[in-house]
Amino acid sequence: MLQSSPLHIVIVGGGSAGWMCAAAAAQVLHPARYRITLIESEEIGTVGVGEATLPALRDFNELLKIDEAQFMRETQGTFKLGIEFRDWDLPGGHYLHPFGSFGQLWGGTEFQHHWMRARQHGLEPAPFEEYCCAVAACRRNAFEFPDLKNPHSTFYGYAYHFDAGLYADFLRRWASARGVRRIEGMVVDVALHAESGDITGLTLKSGQKLDGDFFVDCSGFRSLLLGDKLGSAWEDWTHWLPCDRAWAVPCERSDDFTPFTRSIAKPGGWIWRIPLQHRTGNGHVFSTRFIGEDEARAALMGQLDGRALAEPKLLRFRAGRRAQAWKRNCVGIGLAAGFLEPLESTSLFLIQKGIQDMLRLLPSPEVRRADQRLADEFNRLSDQLYERIRDFLILHYVANRRHGEPLWDHVRGHAMPDSLRHKLALFRARGHVPYFKDGFFSRDSWLAVLFGQGLMPEHYDRLADAVPLPLLDQRLRELHARVAAHAARMQSHAAVISRHCGEPAPIRQAAS
Ligand SMILES: Cc1cc2nc3c(=O)[nH]c(=O)nc-3n(C[C@H](O)[C@H](O)[C@H](O)COP(=O)(O)OP(=O)(O)OC[C@H]3O[C@@H](n4cnc5c(N)ncnc54)[C@H](O)[C@@H]3O)c2cc1C
Repeated sequence: MLQSSPLHIVIVGGGSAGWMCAAAAAQVLHPARYRITLIESEEIGTVGVGEATLPALRDFNELLKIDEAQFMRETQGTFKLGIEFRDWDLPGGHYLHPFGSFGQLWGGTEFQHHWMRARQHGLEPAPFEEYCCAVAACRRNAFEFPDLKNPHSTFYGYAYHFDAGLYADFLRRWASARGVRRIEGMVVDVALHAESGDITGLTLKSGQKLDGDFFVDCSGFRSLLLGDKLGSAWEDWTHWLPCDRAWAVPCERSDDFTPFTRSIAKPGGWIWRIPLQHRTGNGHVFSTRFIGEDEARAALMGQLDGRALAEPKLLRFRAGRRAQAWKRNCVGIGLAAGFLEPLESTSLFLIQKGIQDMLRLLPSPEVRRADQRLADEFNRLSDQLYERIRDFLILHYVANRRHGEPLWDHVRGHAMPDSLRHKLALFRARGHVPYFKDGFFSRDSWLAVLFGQGLMPEHYDRLADAVPLPLLDQRLRELHARVAAHAARMQSHAAVISRHCGEPAPIRQAAS
């Protein structure tokens, strides 16, 4: 018989990380065995951005048994099939990184090799991206729920854009309704056990004391428990990813209702555009080493689709992570554990993955103390994920021809991580993208950026030679036609949203 008292999990922070963690824990853990308390401070507030996601968020919603239409209505959400990158290789160029595959495996050989071979043999295939249904849909501002049993053309998935503030409210209501206790207050002191060094309790500004068995640090960039108190060292990655500020501002929605995020490269950083039902989210991520705050603000305000709906907000950050995301009886989730700029919308995914791994490895009420072997496994998984995402982000900055612009020259001039160097060398030599089961991003994602930013391998995989050229030509033509026909049958993104979760908010005219 299990008779231990419930293990008390204390979550510090009520941003997206804190509430996602509270919601998942409330859903998965038995209330007789685990007690969950969340402390948040209105005085401090949250980052309050984070509007673009990855398809994995759908798994998170499924875990929570959240109804998609309700979720989208309450967060003013839209569908996301990928990211369009403009001006990233050279000004004027553009490409899409879709949540979907390019082409198909033929004879066990990846599509890019067949496509490269067709080019080298003068078959004049269509551009690489035209063999991807998600890209074709984006080009038409169209959307359709993927049919995994009958994909019609090529496989794809989808994610969401949503209002970060409404998302936090949604999760707060969801978790509170399932027994999570919320305490409003500011943590001013953290007590450690004299021998083990484990965290034993917290003191709030009001004087209230709170004991706990296991602590989740979701306190944002402050990293109050993991960084400040337990001294998990900060690993700085700003030499690879030098952006350290963002201006964020919402504006009126335009009729360019894209099922994708847009990212536009700029001399000192890049600008995002995220369409929601009721407004468009915009931001300029930049490096203060290469552009001033005022100049960056002006560049953003000059790029809006419609009238600004608020004053721009300045956010400060730095790229890097805590050396140990799990230390003693404390796990850092969200910004408290690390940050990689929002170029590929990975933060909420890192949060989700961290929560899932933590729940898998959580101490039981019988043992209570965190097992170092499990903490090591958590840290191994976390390191892997951060490093793979980091490499993918750096790729965008190093594979381009924006020469003569200080930010871009700076990143290209810096020695890249060995893992990225290895990937680029293999791609250049043979069109191969080493792929790992765990971690991100998929091979198709890498191909989207590599080809999209103008890299072309010297050779293709020799196994591709097994397909006779006339057959290859025929297959390419058929696939291309199937992809185009599939996208042409889709409804507009706006029509699918209104059918699925009600009419999108009307477009208000910009003030003249
Ligand atoms: C410019 C920018 C754009 C971004 N865009 C995206 C995106 O498109 N997609 C994406 O996935 N992610 C994005 N992110 C990341 C995303 O915003 C964050 O990962 C997410 O909001 C989680 O933040 P958090 O909960 O870790 O921290 P925060 O939102 O900072 O929350 C911290 C919480 O801790 C509490 N707290 C702090 N100190 C104390 C204390 N002493 N006592 C009590 N409570 C305390 C605060 O009150 C708050 O509730 C972006 C981030 C930035 C900076």
